[in-house]
Amino acid sequence: MSQSSPDVQFRFQAIEAATNRQPRKFDLPKDDLGRSLAVSDYFGQFTFGVKEIKSVIPRADFERFLELTNNGQQLEKDIADKIAKAVRNWAMEMGITHFCHWFQPMTGLTAEKHDAFISFNDEGAAIEKFSGAQLIQSEPDASSFPSGGMRTTFEARGYTAWDPSSPMFLVTTTNGRTLCIPSVFVSYTGHALDEKTPLLRSVEALSTQAIALLHQLGDTNVKRVTATLGAEQEYFLIDRAYFNQRPDLVLTGRTLLGARPSKGQELEDHYFGAIPSRVSAFMQEVEFELYRLGVPAKTRHNEVAPAQFELAPIFEEANVSIDHNHLTMEVMKKVAERHNFALLLHEKPFAGINGSGKHNNWAMATDAGENLLEPGATPHQNLRFLVVLTAILKGVLKHNALLRASIASSGNDHRLGANEAPPAIMSVFLGEQLSMILNKIKSGEAIENAERAMIHLGVSKIPVVARDNTDRNRTSPFAFTGNKFEFRAVGSSASCSFPMSCLNAAVAEAMEEMAAALEQRVKGGADREKAALELVRETVIATEAIRFEGNGYGQEWLSEAERRGLAHLRNTPEALAAFQYPSTKALFLKQNVLSEAELQSRHHVNVERYIKKVDIEIDTMRTLVDTYVIPAASLYLRDMAEAVSKVAKITGAEKGPMEGSVKKAAEIFKELFDKRATMESAFQNAGSAGGEEARAKVLAEKVLPAMLNLRDVCDRLENVVGNGYWPLPKYREMLFCY
Ligand code: ADP
Ligand code: MG
Repeated sequence: MSQSSPDVQFRFQAIEAATNRQPRKFDLPKDDLGRSLAVSDYFGQFTFGVKEIKSVIPRADFERFLELTNNGQQLEKDIADKIAKAVRNWAMEMGITHFCHWFQPMTGLTAEKHDAFISFNDEGAAIEKFSGAQLIQSEPDASSFPSGGMRTTFEARGYTAWDPSSPMFLVTTTNGRTLCIPSVFVSYTGHALDEKTPLLRSVEALSTQAIALLHQLGDTNVKRVTATLGAEQEYFLIDRAYFNQRPDLVLTGRTLLGARPSKGQELEDHYFGAIPSRVSAFMQEVEFELYRLGVPAKTRHNEVAPAQFELAPIFEEANVSIDHNHLTMEVMKKVAERHNFALLLHEKPFAGINGSGKHNNWAMATDAGENLLEPGATPHQNLRFLVVLTAILKGVLKHNALLRASIASSGNDHRLGANEAPPAIMSVFLGEQLSMILNKIKSGEAIENAERAMIHLGVSKIPVVARDNTDRNRTSPFAFTGNKFEFRAVGSSASCSFPMSCLNAAVAEAMEEMAAALEQRVKGGADREKAALELVRETVIATEAIRFEGNGYGQEWLSEAERRGLAHLRNTPEALAAFQYPSTKALFLKQNVLSEAELQSRHHVNVERYIKKVDIEIDTMRTLVDTYVIPAASLYLRDMAEAVSKVAKITGAEKGPMEGSVKKAAEIFKELFDKRATMESAFQNAGSAGGEEARAKVLAEKVLPAMLNLRDVCDRLENVVGNGYWPLPKYREMLFCY
């Protein structure tokens, strides 16, 4: 084998390593007789939540605890101390030495700062100590977390505060265990510096407005409404040996170049196929770890693209579900390492095949456990269902640009609108049955008697029919799937917090408005149910623009959506402008989800993040081109040219066709330098664009396309340069050889 460049041997070593690996064996815990334990035996074993708190403190204290925490009030010191003591006892039994407040800064990731339990008593002896104050609050040095200008460095301190609604959990690393306390992260002035704070506020807003609306409908016994969420997590797994040889994957999470293999996903033979044994060993270990952490992982399967998979949990209350999704991503990453895999959570790690999303299945449940998106058995329940449904249509229509913005990121830009994921336009898919019912309501049929209308409209049949899976539209960003909505446009690496906060807030606002309208009509003497049905009818008519049952991938939809006045925000900088709409500010302020300063800071952080990510990509692209592609192609061209000359000399033949192939490679090589220069000058221009937003716009509109053109040349070169010269693991190897 020719090894003109020493780098190439690493690629071949990676292929060898990857193809020789065996599935990692790991033993599930056994009972005394050597039988594997049932999952229910260890589910939640590593958690300490409300249930555990209840079992360790006096009943009156527990009731007080619930009362205070449900109202977002500070716990009294003595109750906090009692809980902390119980937590410490549990922690010591579990071999935990450290604790940390675990929080979600605006980086999209989680953060933690560990403290030891160790302390000294009055006699100077070492003891384990954990007070209520330590449980409730902590002060990480927060100056390096993004704050979007809300916290200048001289007042750098922020503090974290325990979120009792999400269970504490323990994390095991090679040499020890740490207790993690789910927390919010706020500045000393009370501004949210994290993802969790606005989420909790949005859940509160949704609860308040949903209750008000339900009360108007006569359902006065509802005391609490929670948002429920089940986040399906898509991901790629490739062998670590390949990953380590790809600077682009290491630094940016996606491949910036790489020729498409002759076979991608067109045969669709991967989807739901047999899970490769190395991967299934990985999945089993992930699930085991998640179960101990109380994360209800439920489904696993292959996804559409080669080397792509999915894990879906059972839904939970949104706040807990989001914490659990963060944990899932972290656990998957760690376990992947043990299995010599690299976990790729990026939205588009490989061009030309599907990217990854995180489908957010979302609904609302009452304290009695009723799903508000579940059409019920009685005409009244179905009327309630229709009111809630139309409130959602109303909220999503009004804030469609904001919802688009809530899922915007440099990674997701490569996925949205790429014929595999929902387009960069929000619309709602309801399915044939529901659409038919709404259309009947719209036409005003049978509106006279609400109860009879419900029967007449066939609404009582919704549960059976709507859940039929055949009636699905995978091209919709927001689809009704029988008893919940699926917000499919969320990116695979993203925190679900902000998309869920926006959705909750938008729907809360719509509910508030509908409750007010209903109240007024009932006060004016209207029959409650009849007024509600009329309101449904008006809302159906007013929200028609957001409903789309057709093919979201089709070109026609783009012009149709524009005609309807829906926002088509093609990239992140465009989308982020929606943060500044007056309707957005009013929404967040009124629903008490984000103050104006908090919204500004979020906008700022997002623009900055976008710029940083693209900057890193450009720099990595330079490295790849200058230190991998150009040297490889040079060596190949040199050898080829020399061979052609020599052969011509020896045989006395015309160089003709032989020279043709060298010439072809040489021309692509030359083009490489042109496109490299074009990218560079576009990048320089971005640098001189005034202000961050202008710079982000130039990056999106000029620099990234220039980078794509450069990539195209690299990929054509890859296809002509001798296999033994190419140092970067190829798509066909990363995706198919493991
Ligand atoms: P589907 O057939 O629509 O894919 P699944 O039952 O497989 O439905 O559910 C997909 C995801 O939706 C799972 O994570 C599931 O827990 C979640 N889910 C189901 N019901 C609800 C609900 N009421 N609220 C939120 N998520 C839900
Ligand atoms: Mg899926």
